[in-house]
Amino acid sequence: MNALKQRIARLIEATGPISLAQYMHLALADPALGYYQARTAIGSGGDFVTAPEVSQMFGELIGVWAASAWQAMGSPAHFILAEAGPGRGTLMADALRAAKSLPGFAEAATIALIETSPAMIAAQKQLLSHHLDRIVWIDSLQRIEKAPVIFIANEFLDVLPFRQYVKADGHWRERLVTNGANGTLQSLLGPQPVATGILPPGHALEPEGSVFEHAPAREAFVSQLAQHLCDQGGAALLIDYGHSQSGFGDTFQAMQGHAPADPFAEPGMADLTSHVDFAALRAVAAHEAALVSPVVEQGTFLLAMGLAQRVARLCARKPAAAQTRVKADADRLAKPDQMGALFKVLALAGKRNASAMNPLLPFSTL
Ligand code: SAH
Repeated sequence: MNALKQRIARLIEATGPISLAQYMHLALADPALGYYQARTAIGSGGDFVTAPEVSQMFGELIGVWAASAWQAMGSPAHFILAEAGPGRGTLMADALRAAKSLPGFAEAATIALIETSPAMIAAQKQLLSHHLDRIVWIDSLQRIEKAPVIFIANEFLDVLPFRQYVKADGHWRERLVTNGANGTLQSLLGPQPVATGILPPGHALEPEGSVFEHAPAREAFVSQLAQHLCDQGGAALLIDYGHSQSGFGDTFQAMQGHAPADPFAEPGMADLTSHVDFAALRAVAAHEAALVSPVVEQGTFLLAMGLAQRVARLCARKPAAAQTRVKADADRLAKPDQMGALFKVLALAGKRNASAMNPLLPFSTL
């Protein structure tokens, strides 16, 4: 049995079954053995591929968004360009290269990378070696400098822990993790029905076995982010796979070596995620009085930011094989049957930035 599984089994023995959120936290973030601690899991040699690793165009278009958000904020002389969960640093490197065309932007920015994994920080230091003098690493949004912020996160919210509730015998009960036979971990339903106040409308009509997912850690993160935007000014772009309407369904997934895996078989060895409920996050941000964009599909967002023009530029004077690759990468990012529709984009801004230009562009026109 792997060492982390043993540790989790002992914890359950001592304290009783744990929530999925607790299990996910231990499996991903245990300081010694958690999934993200020791490895850079992203890329063809890792467990999954993310949009910035598919093509430089993704980070470049986000750089264009960041530059236009900065202008909409009145081009502040000092601001924080923040990214949560920057992975290998690819998105930030591509965004900074693209934003160079806007004079003053890079000089005004202090870059804050919010990251908990020493292995990822090492990778980021390597890729962003030309920018080290303006980068600070912080392990939590709480430690961000009090200044206007332009905030980016791609495939970050999905790794924050979530809980599941399952309808059984007419009641909703929390799905927990416990010890099974022969050193296995397995799920079971908690004995007590949960308060229905946490469930979305329509729960009474759901059939037996229906699942509802709730991610308090994601909501807490977005609430804190929205507070910062309102207090200090700024704009945020949140990109992830998920849904624009709250609903029911089991989206818990483990990925290992680019294939789905059993989430309980080898904690610490597989990436564990669930789909992001963007409707819940919009409500949280609106509650903090931030400006909130509609939820837009990634394909729509990238095309509005100029994906087709970027493709044309990258293809100019290139051999046919290179052109085919660039077009295939753009399709992968934007086509609805690839990443274009499953991935969603949500933008937030502080109300104080609403007057000059709209910092939620291009969302206000989509
Ligand atoms: N944004 C990157 C990487 C996504 S993977 C990309 O698109 O390629 C998730 C990233 O979040 C990794 O860098 C991981 O180390 C980091 N991470 C995981 N949990 C975190 C936490 N609680 N706080 C900050 N970063 C975290």
